[in-house]
Amino acid sequence: MKLVKSADKLTKLLLNLRKGDNLVTIGFVPTMGALHEGHLSLLKNSKSENSITVCSIFVNPTQFGEKKDLETYPKPIEKDIEKLLSVGCDILFLPEVQEVYPESYKQQYFDLLGLDLKIEGKQRPGHFQGVCNVIYRFFEIIEPDKAYFGQKDFQQTVVVKRLVELTKSKTEICVVPIAREENGLAMSSRNQRLSNEHRFQASFIREALLKIKEHAKEIGLQKAIEQARKELSTIKHAELEYLLAADTRSLQEVNHLDGEVVVLTVVKFHGVRLLDNILLKP
Ligand code: AMP
Repeated sequence: MKLVKSADKLTKLLLNLRKGDNLVTIGFVPTMGALHEGHLSLLKNSKSENSITVCSIFVNPTQFGEKKDLETYPKPIEKDIEKLLSVGCDILFLPEVQEVYPESYKQQYFDLLGLDLKIEGKQRPGHFQGVCNVIYRFFEIIEPDKAYFGQKDFQQTVVVKRLVELTKSKTEICVVPIAREENGLAMSSRNQRLSNEHRFQASFIREALLKIKEHAKEIGLQKAIEQARKELSTIKHAELEYLLAADTRSLQEVNHLDGEVVVLTVVKFHGVRLLDNILLKP
């Protein structure tokens, strides 16, 4: 695996590897490090579909609201490198902030049609504009044929698809299913902040989503969600931030199973913010 820190060097290296050959394809997996099986499943997808796989590890400052969250983000780089080697990643892009955002770069405002202001966007103002700026820059540097994102951050996948449309990018966005712990908890770098016992107990989030999927067909989506909200409110040390159903494209909140729907939730459990979602097809 090649380790590259300079944006210019990476662009040149990839140009060289492509050598104008259309059969050479580049798959790209953007991450913030502290890698787990979820990230590795994105990388495995990229490996199986492309000639070259590039992974970036970059804790993007522009997508963090709170400085403390940014400063305390885990950076186990040696362990991450071992994991990348285990899945055969070809190139690790590990830039400093000034490589991604040189002085000449002005943060852009992207017209995301309000997709950035809903749901997570309400809780984290500016977050998705920050995500779009970093993805825009990475696509400029790497020009990947395909880029891989996890369904775990569902709204992010919708926002990035809009960015691709808006900027007329040629990169195809590939969405990879959520990797889960044995008990169903969605894998996340944040899970490390839970004790083993609490991690085990946190399976209630997945269970609530599965129950909504099952019940929605019998009692209707709205009732199924209301029931789940009630049940979640009785769980100790769990604070429900949101639980709602939305259209998978517009992210408009819905009450009925019309078209493709995603049920999205964030639960703070013992102070750790846990995201999950489930797709419901009509
Ligand atoms: P992060 O390092 O948290 O920015 O995540 C990098 C990428 O990994 C994003 O596209 C996430 O959606 C994806 N990802 C994180 N957790 C999971 C998971 N449990 N399953 C699948 N993809 C994930």
